[in-house]
Amino acid sequence: MNRFYTAVFGALTFAAMTAQAEDCHLSVEANDLMQFNQKTLEVPPSCTDVELTLSHVGKQPAQVMGHNWVLARAADLTGVAIAGQNAGRGHNYQAPGDKRILAATQIIGGGESTKVRFEAAALRSGETYAFFCTTPGHSAIMRGNLILVGARDTEVATSKSAKRPSGEKGTLPAATVAAGASG
Ligand code: ZN
Repeated sequence: MNRFYTAVFGALTFAAMTAQAEDCHLSVEANDLMQFNQKTLEVPPSCTDVELTLSHVGKQPAQVMGHNWVLARAADLTGVAIAGQNAGRGHNYQAPGDKRILAATQIIGGGESTKVRFEAAALRSGETYAFFCTTPGHSAIMRGNLILVGARDTEVATSKSAKRPSGEKGTLPAATVAAGASG
């Protein structure tokens, strides 16, 4: 009897946990022409975890036209790509321990696919993230943006100069009324 209830309770707890953690799935295709088929990926704020699938729909082997999918803040794209290039193919063109990398897949060749999972909580609304391929020379073309959408009103970080619209003040000529009537 006890064992039965434990089992039921366990199942319910598991169900509750899985219901709470909403998985969101994204997918991107890469091809032999050094292209991703997506320019923008949107992550709803209800996501707890994001699972991204990268599929290489081309035919070229990884040595020739290998691709990966790397996520970082847009501002870090270039730095991450350069560090990855220096790290070499043995590291999937990702510098080991590069904290700027928020998520990344391995390098795959034509006909292959791979997945990566990351916490959506790591994403902040108002921040622009970039996804790109770190195979040398690829990130110039193979790049796109990933954003957290639908969160509370996003205050765009900082606009450097808050210019006030400087409209010309049209000073109307004072309508002078000459009232010079004397009785
Ligand atoms: Zn690539």
